Amino acid sequence: MTKRHVRLFAVAASAALVLSACGGDGDTDADAGDDGTTAAEDGGDAGEGGADGSIRIGIKFDQPGLGLRDGDTYSGLDVEMAKGVAEKLGYSEDQIEWVESPSPQRETMLETGQVDLIFATYSITDSRKERVSFAGPYFIAGQGLLVRADDDSINGPEDMEGKILCSVAGSTPAQRVADEYPGVELQEYNTYSECLPALLSGTIDAITTDDTILAGYAAQEQYAGQLKLAGEPFSEERYGVGTAKGSELCEQVNEAITALIDDGAWEQAVTDTLGPADYTPGPGNPPEVNEDCA
Ligand code: GLU
Repeated sequence: MTKRHVRLFAVAASAALVLSACGGDGDTDADAGDDGTTAAEDGGDAGEGGADGSIRIGIKFDQPGLGLRDGDTYSGLDVEMAKGVAEKLGYSEDQIEWVESPSPQRETMLETGQVDLIFATYSITDSRKERVSFAGPYFIAGQGLLVRADDDSINGPEDMEGKILCSVAGSTPAQRVADEYPGVELQEYNTYSECLPALLSGTIDAITTDDTILAGYAAQEQYAGQLKLAGEPFSEERYGVGTAKGSELCEQVNEAITALIDDGAWEQAVTDTLGPADYTPGPGNPPEVNEDCA
């Protein structure tokens, strides 16, 4: 297992990230600039987007550093990658319609055409590939554990026997715990942010999901000194861009991700978004874009 350098409590000087109320109404981004506007004509099947020439992109709304909605503002690595890819597909920022895509609903949202693309800490897996196609990967994270800062009893998944763990239904971390750690009592919610109050109050013992997500929560100013990541990452989560199965957009997204990695935009986005939580990407990053869009 690779070592990730996730240091907690080094909260960056950036403004405090405040969790939004997770409304699911898919507001559009109101403050987009015009400078990146390019024609969408070269986008091939860019017409898969909204009728008004927009593209609907599914993200998380409650994951600081990855996908976070704060009023009309959207931030995080997934948001930055989505904006960069959309621009290369011919969509300006104000043509992006951001739609909340909670983990349990991602495949369905692509299958039913509610979104064109999903950038939502969405791990590429064989079982998901039966229903959707993936471009990417554009980042590699690992499963971790978030515990109360004063809890030294949990240092890895093997310490979770008899403890209560919180995760999200339909996520790879929840599935892994269910499959590999049957002695753990798993509580599953719709979003990870719903686990946080339960952890702080002592109702649960730990939250498990990707270390990127957990580092983002731990670094929030309102939790300073109260939470820590325990142990080392114990999986490889390859973040892909979800498209409808067989969508022609998928190959274009692969090309766009490769270009963003090559021209330095990926590195800038990672520094800007994960840096405030003092998260340093582990080995394998930036990844080789090798999904076949099958
Ligand atoms: N990357 C994992 C997954 O796709 C966990 C994070 C999430 O639920 O978005 O299931």
